[in-house]
Amino acid sequence: MAFATMWELLQSGRDADLAIGAPEEKALTHAGLRALAARTVADLNAMGIGRNDRVAIVLPNGPEMAAAFLCVAAGATTAPLNPAYRAEEFEFYLTDLKAKALVVQEGDATPARAVAEKLGVPVVELVPTRAAGAGSFALKKGALSGKPAQGGYAAADDVALVLHTSGTTSRPKIVPLAQSNVCASARHIGATLELKPGDRCLNIMPLFHIHGLIAAVLSSIGAGGSTVCTPGFNALKFFAWLDEAKPSWYTAVPTMHQAILSRAERNKESIAKAKLRFIRSSSASLPPQVMQELEAVFGAPVIESYGMTEAAHQMASNPLPPRARKPGSVGIAAGPEVRIMDEEGNLLPNGALGEVVIRGPNVTKGYEANPDANLKGFANGWFRTGDQGTLDEEGYLRITGRLKELINRGGEKVSPLEVDEIIMDHPAVAQIVTFAMPHDKLGEEVAAAVVLREGQTATERELRDFAAKRLADFKVPRKIVFLPEIPKGATGKLQRIGLADKLGLGK
Ligand code: AMP
Repeated sequence: MAFATMWELLQSGRDADLAIGAPEEKALTHAGLRALAARTVADLNAMGIGRNDRVAIVLPNGPEMAAAFLCVAAGATTAPLNPAYRAEEFEFYLTDLKAKALVVQEGDATPARAVAEKLGVPVVELVPTRAAGAGSFALKKGALSGKPAQGGYAAADDVALVLHTSGTTSRPKIVPLAQSNVCASARHIGATLELKPGDRCLNIMPLFHIHGLIAAVLSSIGAGGSTVCTPGFNALKFFAWLDEAKPSWYTAVPTMHQAILSRAERNKESIAKAKLRFIRSSSASLPPQVMQELEAVFGAPVIESYGMTEAAHQMASNPLPPRARKPGSVGIAAGPEVRIMDEEGNLLPNGALGEVVIRGPNVTKGYEANPDANLKGFANGWFRTGDQGTLDEEGYLRITGRLKELINRGGEKVSPLEVDEIIMDHPAVAQIVTFAMPHDKLGEEVAAAVVLREGQTATERELRDFAAKRLADFKVPRKIVFLPEIPKGATGKLQRIGLADKLGLGK
C-alpha cells in the first residue's frame, strides 16, 4: 500500500489480524490499534496538542511505547527519549525540542518528570490498559486543555518523528522526519524483507532509536503484520520469547546477535522449533563470522542492512534469497539512491572509495535550525552520511571507515565532544580527548585520554564516577589514560580517529 502518513499506514492491516503483542499478554489487533490511534489523536487535540506539536515520550521499552509512537505520530510529532538519560540530559533534550508535552507512564519515577516540571512542560500520564490488548493505553489529561492550531490527522509533510543524532559537534543535531519520510522507509523495509500480514517481528531493540521504531515496528504494521514487543534485549529471556511469540523474524545489532549465539548451545530445542524466515542485522558492522554462525545455528538467511537516523533508517540492505547476500557488505541500495562522492562533491564510479551519499523519499529535508550542519551535510541534493565506502560492480556497498567522529558502541552512538565537555568540568582536568577504542564484541568502546592540571591528581575511577553523574552509562569512557600531552596528527591537528592505535589501544 502506498501510504504517506501514519494514519494511512495504520489502515494497512486486516481488522482481526494481530498488530502489537507482548510476552504473556493478549495481543492488540489492527482494528484495535486504529481505534486507539483515533482516540489518542482526539485526546491530544482536546489537550490543545495537534499536528507538528512536539510530544516527548519517555516510556519503558514495550508494547505501550510502540503503540504510543504509532498513535501519537498519527496526529502530532513524537520525540522518544532514552529513559536511561540523566536529569541534565533530559533538560537539554526537552528544552532543545521545545516539547509541548511529555508523556510518561503512570507511577514511573523517571527524572524526566521533575525536569519537565522545572521547565514548565506539561506531563501527560499514560496508563497501560493491557486487558484491552498489549500496548493499549489511556492518556490522563491533567490540567491540559485548549484548541490546537491544526487538529486531526497529520498530513504527509508534517513531522512524524524528531530524533537527535550525536554529531561531530557536542550539541546533538535535531533530525526532523516527515510523515512521508518514515512511511517511505517502512515501505522500503517491507519491500526488501517481503513482509506480509502473517509476518511477526520479535522486537528486542530500544524504541527511542530509529532502528527499532522503523524496522521492527513501523514496517511490520505497514505490512499488515505484527510486532511482539519485549521489555528490551535480554539474552537469558530471548529463547523463551522465541518459543512463545513464534516470530517469523527479528532485527538486532551485532552485539545482540553475538549474545544470542553464546546461549545457542543450551537452547537447541527452541532453535529447532523456531521458524525464522530470516534474521536482520543493522546499526553497526556485522562480522562475517557472526553472520555465518547465525545462519548455521538458525538455518535462516541473515540480512545485513545499513541504516541511519537521517534516512529514517534503511539505506541499503542485502536482499533475501535467491539473490546473493555478501558477508562484509551492507547490501544494495534499498529505498534511496546510494552513491559514492569525493570531497568536491563529484559522484564517483563503482569501485572508487569515497563518502557514501544518499537521496530519496525517506531522507530528512535537513537538520533543524542548523544551517552549518546542513551546509556540510548536503551536497548537490545528496545527503552525506559521513561513512566511507565503496560500491562493487553489482552495486553492493561496503562500509570501509568513517569520516565523522562518532563512536559506534555496538550500535549506540556517542558524540566524543559531548563526553569531552562533561569531563572538562572536573577541576583536575586540563585537556581531554574522547575517542573510539576497538572492542571485541561492541566493535568500538568509548575511551578518553586526559592531561591533568599541574599539581593535580585524579584517578580513572574518580573521572568515570564524575562523568556518570551527568551522562547515561553507555557514554561513560570505559578506559581513561593519563598522558603528559595529547599526541597530535601529522598536521599538528588533534585527531580522534586513529588515536587508539597511537596509544597502543588498537587491536
Ligand atoms: P544511527 O543514526 O544511530 O542509526 O547511526 C547511523 C550510523 O551507524 C551510520 O552512519 C553508520 O556509521 C552506522 N551503521 C549503520 N548500519 C551499519 C552497518 N550495517 N555496518 C556498519 N555501520 C553501520
